[in-house]
Amino acid sequence: MISLKKIAILTSGGDSQGMNSAVRAVARTGLANGFEIFGIRKGYKGLINNDFIKLGSKEVSDILYRGGTFLQSARSAEFETPEGQAQAVENLKAKGIDYLVVIGGDGSYRGAQALERHGIKSFGLPGTIDNDIPLTDYTIGFDTTLNVVTDAVGNLRDTMSSHERVSVIEAMGRNCGDIALQAGIASGVDAILIPEIEPDIKQTAANIKERFERGKSHSIVIVAEGAGKAEDVAKQIKELTGLDTRPTVLGHIQRGGTPSAFDRVYSSRLGHKVIELIQQGVTGVGLGMENNKITYHSFEEIFNAKTEINEQLYHIFEDLV
Ligand code: ATP
Repeated sequence: MISLKKIAILTSGGDSQGMNSAVRAVARTGLANGFEIFGIRKGYKGLINNDFIKLGSKEVSDILYRGGTFLQSARSAEFETPEGQAQAVENLKAKGIDYLVVIGGDGSYRGAQALERHGIKSFGLPGTIDNDIPLTDYTIGFDTTLNVVTDAVGNLRDTMSSHERVSVIEAMGRNCGDIALQAGIASGVDAILIPEIEPDIKQTAANIKERFERGKSHSIVIVAEGAGKAEDVAKQIKELTGLDTRPTVLGHIQRGGTPSAFDRVYSSRLGHKVIELIQQGVTGVGLGMENNKITYHSFEEIFNAKTEINEQLYHIFEDLV
């Protein structure tokens, strides 16, 4: 009897909306092409603990539209040790896994690269809301988060204008300002503070004051978590303007919600591409999208590249504010 080649999939690091559709796409495309598919629960932690489940077509039905990850995610310090990685490799080999698909952020990619170096043929799919993985225009979940943040800013605008207040909203993104920048443009906020561009609080405060003097009833500032804390920024603006200024930290609500159509389609394309690459004999790569094409690069290339803020978008914001 010919034994089928086996693919295992795990989700790792912070969860993001669309991880489920990526798992589904790898599983369904793999099954259709004669692979046996396994899910590993709780990321690298589950890999070390041998927490494998068999995935048939039915196991991945009804998950396309769900946020989070049905495989669950985790962070594992143990996996970063040589002993942890040796255990992971042993478990994969004992199960006869031929290919591993890791859906996660840059830390998870480092784990996939380590396993590749141990002879496990690995793939990375960019699963993080932060949009901070180089050589891809988008990460899975970023678009959904952008919509969640845009809706939240809209809700805050209603209450702020009723009370003539300034609202300082803190968005996630770690050291990447993309969520704040794009949600800020989508919401027509008055100021965007991101780590990639040195914030000028004094100028921001002066602009806000001037707008209130011209008759505006509210003002909204969005700050990326990598550029500062909403509480500190709100305090500074209050001191500089004398206006009632309130901080709001959106927090984990940004990771929630049903994945957007974009994230579902995008992650389906990525998952599908993994099987194509396996068939072409390509491994040890992270996938992404550049100029609407699904592309891939070696982990090394990805780690040597830098994420860059779209400066043109920032200039657009400056011209529109
Ligand atoms: P997010 O961007 O959403 O936080 P992430 O994948 O960057 O996701 P991390 O916590 O950085 O999240 O990494 C997830 C897991 O990947 C870690 O808990 C660890 O098990 C593994 N990992 C991280 N860095 C490395 C590394 N340098 N070598 C091996 N494994 C790593």
